Amino acid sequence: MKEIYLDNSATTSLCEGAIEAMEHAMRVYGNPSSLHTLGHEAQKLVDTARDSIGAALGVRMMKPEELIFTSCGTEANNLAIFGVAYAKSRRVANKIITTDSEHPSVEKVLQMLETDGFEVIRIGTRGGVLNFEQLEKVLDDRVLLVTMMMVNNETGAAYDLARVFKLAKERCPSVVTHCDAVQGFLKLRFSPAAIGADLVSLSSHKIHGPKGVGALYVSREILKQKKLVPRLLGGGQEFGFRSGTENVIGIAGFGAAVRQTGRGLDDKIQKIAALREYALLKLSSLDVTLNVPLDLCAPHILNFTLPKIKSETMLHYLSGERIYVSSGSACSSHSHMPSPTLLAFGLSPSDAENSIRVSLSEYNTEEEIDRFVECLKGGLNVLVRVRR
Ligand code: PLP
Repeated sequence: MKEIYLDNSATTSLCEGAIEAMEHAMRVYGNPSSLHTLGHEAQKLVDTARDSIGAALGVRMMKPEELIFTSCGTEANNLAIFGVAYAKSRRVANKIITTDSEHPSVEKVLQMLETDGFEVIRIGTRGGVLNFEQLEKVLDDRVLLVTMMMVNNETGAAYDLARVFKLAKERCPSVVTHCDAVQGFLKLRFSPAAIGADLVSLSSHKIHGPKGVGALYVSREILKQKKLVPRLLGGGQEFGFRSGTENVIGIAGFGAAVRQTGRGLDDKIQKIAALREYALLKLSSLDVTLNVPLDLCAPHILNFTLPKIKSETMLHYLSGERIYVSSGSACSSHSHMPSPTLLAFGLSPSDAENSIRVSLSEYNTEEEIDRFVECLKGGLNVLVRVRR
């Protein structure tokens, strides 16, 4: 029985390009900070990856310091938010605007800033739609930072960040805009300039690169105005914004994954979106409730609620068939609380606990969706009977 991997928002398989690049990088053991030839060789791998990511982000003539490598998307989010909050005097502006369904690597940072005196305002995302009416009311010149995700990792809802950030800059010219694009990068076409984002967080393992490497894009304006301070202090690597010897192997793999996944991207996005539609159509004939965002959505994520069956029970049933889906985001799936994101979407706590996320990649096929839906149907029959 062939395995069917439908949990690509948790992580993705490594692409061949990333494997090859890392195999090569494993033999380049110099420290990028060393001034000798071996150091230069390692630095070259880092520079090549940086250029590839800059090009995929559509940043023209990117200066190296505009892209800071981190250990993951979580660290990029932490650096962006803490880095902006502590770069600025709170007496001038201390309001931070976000959504009510951010990834924990944003939400938990904001909770900590709240205990430190910052005011955090969470904009509603019911039905996967950002509440612009609420946003309009809270944007004023006391806003220090607007931080919002591009694509929600549990529902696939996408937000019109170009509109959000434009509005924010009109109301508060000194505001810093940050986008957690971990689920949007190479799934939706964007550039930081086109959406008005000063800071953009990325993660390698969501785009067929290795785990344990991410990046934060930082605009020239933010660098010039010194609106970001580092969190990790030490040897001053990554232009002083992220001390610690670079993960050269991971970074080389990240760059290669960006090059491979980014090749023919429009066709890939179209293919994944069509597969999602196909899956939604098939699922609509079963006894499940589709949780489809009412407005914009990403091409690769879909979510549905089972009829009174815990998602974990179904997940184990499907896992026995070698079909892998998720009962929520990978980071919160060990928690026994209903997902705050699904509650914000409008689901009841019990429906949130009965919900399954399917996330696709360019490597999935219609045949896989057929077998998944067939097995799900079997699971619904068996598990509903067990419940009775
Ligand atoms: N932001 C979003 C929207 C995510 O989905 C994730 C991971 O699932 C992260 C941030 C964290 O990325 P990483 O796993 O690289 O720390």
